[in-house]
Amino acid sequence: MDRKQETSAVKRALVQAGFDKNNIRVKHGNGTAWGWLSVSADIHRAPSCYCGSPDEYGRRETCQECKNKWREIYNRMEEVAALASDRDKLRDNHIIIHLGFFAN
Ligand SMILES: [Zn+2]
Repeated sequence: MDRKQETSAVKRALVQAGFDKNNIRVKHGNGTAWGWLSVSADIHRAPSCYCGSPDEYGRRETCQECKNKWREIYNRMEEVAALASDRDKLRDNHIIIHLGFFAN
């Protein structure tokens, strides 16, 4: 599987796992980061938590419930990306996950 095929496979798998295709980005590194796969997602709806005023929802720094939710989604992203790219058997899968929560 080449880089382009890997990017497509991971994107497709994330959408199948319920991520919004408009809010995810999958790309490969260059230079010394060659071989690394970067997977980013912006979650534009707060977790089911009311830990603050609307623009403070989803603060994993201050809210345990949001932190747990963030960790759960982060782990799911990594799992889905690793399986889709056949990196799940590797000791170090060289996948970098970026996950942000946004109030809207
Ligand atoms: Zn919260």
